[in-house]
Order: sequence, then C-alpha cells, then structure tokens
Amino acid sequence: MAISNTIRPGRHFLQIPGPTNVPDRVLRAMDYPTIDHRGPDFAELGLRVLDRIKLIFKTSEPVIIFPASGTGAWEAAMVNTLSAGDKILMFETGHFSTLWYDIAHKFKLEIDFVKGDWRTGVDPNIVESKLKEDTEKKIKAVCAVHNETSTGVTSRIGEIRKAMDNADHPALLFVDTISSLGSIDYRHEEWKVDVTVGGSQKGLLLPPGLSFNAISSKALDAYKNSDLPKSYWDWEPMIENNKKGYFPYTPATNLLYGLDEAINILTEEGLENVFNRHKRFAEATRIAVNAWGLEILCKNPDEYSSSLTAVLVPEGHDADSLRKIILDDFNMSLGTGLAKVAGKVFRIGHLGDFNELMLAGTLSGVEMGLMKSKIPFNKGGILKALEFLC
Ligand SMILES: *Cc1c(COP(=O)(O)O)cnc(C)c1O
Repeated sequence: MAISNTIRPGRHFLQIPGPTNVPDRVLRAMDYPTIDHRGPDFAELGLRVLDRIKLIFKTSEPVIIFPASGTGAWEAAMVNTLSAGDKILMFETGHFSTLWYDIAHKFKLEIDFVKGDWRTGVDPNIVESKLKEDTEKKIKAVCAVHNETSTGVTSRIGEIRKAMDNADHPALLFVDTISSLGSIDYRHEEWKVDVTVGGSQKGLLLPPGLSFNAISSKALDAYKNSDLPKSYWDWEPMIENNKKGYFPYTPATNLLYGLDEAINILTEEGLENVFNRHKRFAEATRIAVNAWGLEILCKNPDEYSSSLTAVLVPEGHDADSLRKIILDDFNMSLGTGLAKVAGKVFRIGHLGDFNELMLAGTLSGVEMGLMKSKIPFNKGGILKALEFLC
C-alpha cells in the first residue's frame, strides 16, 4: 500500500484503540462483488446479520445498522427519542462523552453535564441522587459511555441501571458501547438499556463504516412522541425495511459481508472467552506499565478497561514524542492523548483480533521506545508481562 515511500518490511502494528486489526477472514469475506441491495440474495444476508447481531448486544430487540461512523449512531439515538428542550443527564468521563455532549448541545437539549476528572467513570450514586432530586421527572435520558476510549476507564452500566431503578425514575438509558462491544461484557437487555450505540471498527473486528442502535420497546414508545428533526437517521423506515432484510437506502453491502463473518468469528470463540482474553491482555499490559514505574490514567481498579490502557508520562515529558519514536523506529501506532490529556498520555490498544505474541510485540515496542526516549522508567516490564502470560 503506497502510503509512504519508505519501505517497511513486516506488518505494521496498529495498536490504537480503534480502528483495530481486521482479521484476514473478515477481509476475505468482504472481497466479493457488491450485489443488488434490492434483490433476493441481499434479503437473505440482511435478515441473517440483523438477526445475529443481536447476539453481540445480548438482546432480542431490534438492532439498526447504519452506513455511518459511530458518531452518526449517537445522533440517531437522540433524534429518534427526544424533543427540543428535553433535559438529559450526561457525565464528563473523557473526550468521547464530551463529543456526545456537543451533539446534544447542537440539538438544543438542556444538559446537566456532571463534571469529571477524566480518570474515573460515571458514579452510579450521582445518577441515583440526580434522579431522586428530579421529582417532576424532567430528565428524559441518562447518557453514559461504557468504555471511555480517551482514558481507558469503563463505567459500570449494570450499577447505573440499578441506581436508576432505585430512584424509580422513567428516564431512558443511552449507552455508547463503541469501544467495548465484542471486548468487554455488555448486556443490552439485562441492563434495560434503551439505546445502545455501537460502531464497527473496534472490538467488532471490522473496518470503519457501520454503526448501530440497539433499541428497547420503551425507546420505540419514546420515538412516537419525539419531535427532533430526523431524516437519514429515522428509525421507522429502517425498521420497516429491515423486516424483510432490506434497507431504506443503499446499505454498506460489503461491510455487511464482513459483519456476517465477524459474528461467526466472535461466536466461534464464544463471547465469554473473548471477554476473558481481553481481560487477561489488559492485566498483562498493566503489569508491564507498573513495572516500568509509569502511572495508569484510570484510578479505580474496578473501572480498568479491557480494551485499552492509557498511560501517563511523567511531568515534563511528551507522550507524543514517545509515540513518534515508536512509529518511526518500530512501525507501531499507539493512540494519542485526546483533548485535555494531549501530550500527557499514550494509549495502548489491546482489543480485537489480538493474541499473546501480538501483545508481546506491542509491549516490546513500547519498552524499546521508552529506552530510546528520555522518559525515566524501569526496564523489564515486558518480562513481567510475559511471566504473567505463561
Ligand atoms: C471511537 C469512538 C467514538 C467515535 O466513533 P466514530 O466511529 O469515530 O464516529 C465514540 N465513542 C467511543 C467510546 C469511541 O471509542
């Protein structure tokens, strides 16, 4: 692929927390002629993926698939359920929750944005007290990012659900699971999530280009009363066409071939095994980081992310210079620090199609980068991680 003139033998290590490494099986599954999306073969594919994607969200309710990045599915969650001026509760857990806030703001929703330190997840106690205080039931939705990809902090959605139940409040629950679906346990139906927002390019093993809304019947009721403008994102024509395996406009056909295969891969390994593999790799990564004497951005061990680890560099050092050394000298991309934590952290993605030796290579790349940088650290993190993996 002619991206630069420099010859770089071997495979590039794409260890950002999404897009992730796409398995060869998925790439091959997409390498077929695009078919007539109104023809009979398409309907078979459509019905199959629309049905089987429910396994991944752990739901029996409809899942809508948009030809769009995850950001589109965020917008869809809001415009299909809310009305101008509605009050919603959001939490500043990091960059992605802030971007979601920006969308809500553009739609003139009234937002209670609970400030955060970018090192902890949504506090279920705050959810409960905010909802209890809202005796007039003005809050229409609670929004949470399950896995904050900018910080490596996971919010405890099951506990947020319990807090909402304790407050006996009718607000909808919206969850962004873009970087947790297919890598961290997620239960749309059990947790009574009303709209789950997903994306294709992280744990779902696909290239960018698909996004999802898993919806509850309560969300469908809210749809009927919602007055925010919607056209491309409108759920109704989607749901109607989807019943027969079709879409109201041209779907991303070849990505759907890939999705079909990605679901095969995830179900062959077994979702619980997928989650445990991610947990193990995350722990190995933290063992290396601790041995290097560097600090993990996530403060609370109950909230450690299984899909990525954000690592702080000591004050006076620049995380992006380290990333540059690692990219230039060892051909590995690590995630950059976003917004408030720019230059302060680098992020190691350990999600998706990923195994022990890929993790060993990734951590070796980081340790070699540290050796070539001026960042003070202790050697040998990689060895500690390898011992853990044996
Ligand atoms: C990647 C990501 C997004 C943004 O998704 P796009 O596909 O880039 O629109 C939103 N939320 C989270 C948690 C993410 O990881």
